[in-house]
Amino acid sequence: MSIVLSARGIVKSFGAKTVLRDMGVTAHRGDVIALIGASGSGKSTFLRCLNFLEMPDSGELDFGNDQIDVATFRKLSARERNRRINAVRRNIGMVFQSFNLWSSKTLLENVIEAPVHVHGRPRQECIEQAEGLLASVGLASFRDYYPKQLSGGQQQRGAIARALAINPSVLLFDEPTSALDPELVNEVLQVMQKLADSGSTMLVVTHEMAFARNVSNKVIFCENGSISASGTPTEIFSKEGPAALRKFMTTVSH
Ligand code: ADP
Ligand code: MG
Repeated sequence: MSIVLSARGIVKSFGAKTVLRDMGVTAHRGDVIALIGASGSGKSTFLRCLNFLEMPDSGELDFGNDQIDVATFRKLSARERNRRINAVRRNIGMVFQSFNLWSSKTLLENVIEAPVHVHGRPRQECIEQAEGLLASVGLASFRDYYPKQLSGGQQQRGAIARALAINPSVLLFDEPTSALDPELVNEVLQVMQKLADSGSTMLVVTHEMAFARNVSNKVIFCENGSISASGTPTEIFSKEGPAALRKFMTTVSH
């Protein structure tokens, strides 16, 4: 299986505080990787480094044929860096905890925004694709609604449709169900399960241990900015493993 995304030795500090000490991941096509760990362990920062929403201090990132050594990359001109970053982002979809739909745009407008304005694809083609995506997340009849007219679960499903509209090679999810009322969590997890079943490559920061156990094929346990355990769900959810992982498991329901 080909590697879609690989990151190695990612280091990131905010001022004097080192948040990522040595993070990495390798996602092969079709992998569903769950990234778990205590709050503050660096999961969101790591995810954001993968598409340069945060600039790592050092490390290496490979996106298919596009390889970036961060130390070298940081010496490039701002213009060249932006060009490379935009190329990376064209292939990465991201879904945030707080949905982040544009409030002044309808659901349909949200979904076609990047394909039309960033990718420069024909508007009509994007609308047709968006209608298909909205149908696939159960929102066909909501295309002209504004985010505030939708429930959190609907907004998040819409955000997933938006992330898919650029035909990304990998999808990043940062705790996609954490901001939802409990009764709305499952509708979002079901959409994610469907994506996983259809072969999407996904990296998911989550506290949903049932999802990590049942849907992912790899689990990474992040502790204090580095990986303290990784393996198959069976390995990670066994009684073995580092004490910190066992302790974390007792703090989350599964
Ligand atoms: P997690 O997602 O695992 O909860 P985060 O990656 O959000 O962890 O945060 C890791 C640490 O980095 C936390 O201590 C957080 O306060 C700090 N942090 C995150 N973003 C910033 C930032 N922009 N500036 C300063 N500190 C930050
Ligand atoms: Mg986080």
